[in-house]
Amino acid sequence: MADEKRCIVVGASSGIGAALARRFAAAGYTLGLAARRTDRLVELGEELPTKSYVARIDVTDPDSARERFDRLADAMGGVDVVVVNAGVAFENPELAWNDERTTVDTNVRGFVAIATAAMAQFEAAGGGHLVGISSVAAHFGSGVSPAYSASKAFVSNYLDGLRYRARRLDFPLSVTTIEPGFVDTKLAGGSFWMASPETAADQIFHAVRKQRRRAYVTRRWRLVALLIDALPDIVRRRVFS
Ligand code: NDP
Repeated sequence: MADEKRCIVVGASSGIGAALARRFAAAGYTLGLAARRTDRLVELGEELPTKSYVARIDVTDPDSARERFDRLADAMGGVDVVVVNAGVAFENPELAWNDERTTVDTNVRGFVAIATAAMAQFEAAGGGHLVGISSVAAHFGSGVSPAYSASKAFVSNYLDGLRYRARRLDFPLSVTTIEPGFVDTKLAGGSFWMASPETAADQIFHAVRKQRRRAYVTRRWRLVALLIDALPDIVRRRVFS
């Protein structure tokens, strides 16, 4: 990754994405900062030690999001690392349609819109590194947020597919799947075992640098994920419904 010096973070206006943009900039990367709240992106860009570009991207409008993503990458003269971080979560045991729809539109359709736009950039450039922010929730069906856990299972599975596809086509693509546990951001609210966004960003940055296929924030969440996978269904139902 020695020559990779341009990184786009989609969902850079707060939380993990903003911390990640700071972490990449500290390592000398030029940043492409994308999200809906451009005032925050501009503020963040002014604070970074390296050059940055700002784009208003709403991933729930996939055609426009893809077009704006391409424009951003072109303005940067290409892109080496793309982090697809944009995501929403609602506690929604009553299955309110608006929340379920927004979750799918953002975390699934929006994710694919940006991931495929990134792939097109990488294919034109002859390689690249795609980083997707999934969740430890990808390992179970959540009774309070069914669309969220399902959307993250989709993200992890989709990234696996892109990795296998690249191998089949002998295309030089790196794919890193990040499955965080709880990180102290607006999205997670008050939870136990939380990592700070800075710790999360540091761990994600190192996973990318080491070209890891999958990483967890924090390491103990890897254990939790393994445990969840090993639980018999009867126990899973008791814990998660
Ligand atoms: P934040 O709410 O702080 O960040 C979410 C980011 O996504 C913001 O930059 C937001 O920007 C962006 N975003 C949301 N909707 C859209 C949209 N329609 N178009 C473009 N950007 C959008 O939460 P986190 O930092 O916690 O979340 C980041 C990622 O990490 C998410 O994918 C989340 O699922 C995942 N994650 C978080 C965990 C946690 O405990 N915090 C645990 C596991 C995974 P804006 O609103 O300006 O558009």
